[in-house]
Order: sequence, then C-alpha cells, then structure tokens
Amino acid sequence: MSDVRIQEAVDRLKESGVRITPQRHAVLEFLINAEIHPTADDIYKALEGKFPNMSVATVYNNLRVFREIGLVSELTYGDASSRFDYNTSKHYHIICESCGKIVDFHYPSLDEVESLAEQVTGFDVSHHRMEIYGTCPECKTKN
Ligand SMILES: [Zn+2]
Ligand SMILES: [Zn+2]
Repeated sequence: MSDVRIQEAVDRLKESGVRITPQRHAVLEFLINAEIHPTADDIYKALEGKFPNMSVATVYNNLRVFREIGLVSELTYGDASSRFDYNTSKHYHIICESCGKIVDFHYPSLDEVESLAEQVTGFDVSHHRMEIYGTCPECKTKN
C-alpha cells in the first residue's frame, strides 16, 4: 500500500519538475512510512547509514522542496524542531506527552470554530490547528 503512495508522490514530484535523487526518494519513502511525524533529525539518523554523504541540511532542503509543492506539511512547535507530516489531507493530531509521538486522527473539520472566531475577533481566518494531548498506548504499558 505504501508503494502506491510512494509512486503517487514520485509522480507529483515529476509533475512539479523536481529531480528525484536517490536521497530525495529515501527521504520521501521514510516520511510516507513513518507514522510518527519525524523531525529532520529523525530522518537524518534513520538514513545516514545508507547515505554517508547526506547531512541534516540535505534532509531539510528536501523537506523544503516537498513542502513547497504541497506534499508535506510542517508542524512547528515554538523552539522545538519542526515535525513533518506526509498526510496533507485535513486531519487532527493527538500528541503523547511522554514520548512526543504524534498520531493522526480524522474528525469532521471544525469549520464553525473558524467562522465564530472571525465574528468574535474580526480576523480573516486562514486555518486552525487543534491538538489533543495524552499518553500513548505504548507509554501507558511502560508505567
Ligand atoms: Zn508515548
Ligand atoms: Zn498528521
């Protein structure tokens, strides 16, 4: 199943005129298979054995290319490293407070929150982000 997703992603890169290098392909493959919303550093650590010439900067550069064509989204958390998410369809996140893992879940988009916020504040709303925090099943069993 992930092979199909990788092929779709590769097709989108090609359509956007992005050259597919072996490293770029590996970063993409890792992102698609990782369900943890990795940081650039996570990706670097996972792939450095395979690509000794790769640097964290290369990983960032690839992620930036993917983000620009809308293949991945970047989740920023203040000073902490950004995490990257391949699944760009609308979804929400639940975050483990023990290990930092981020898991996707789907829920009907809370569009009414946006219109309410517009009415109350007079802002033009562009999007919203909702995150739920707790302890993941793995961390629960460790305690
Ligand atoms: Zn956890
Ligand atoms: Zn996600």
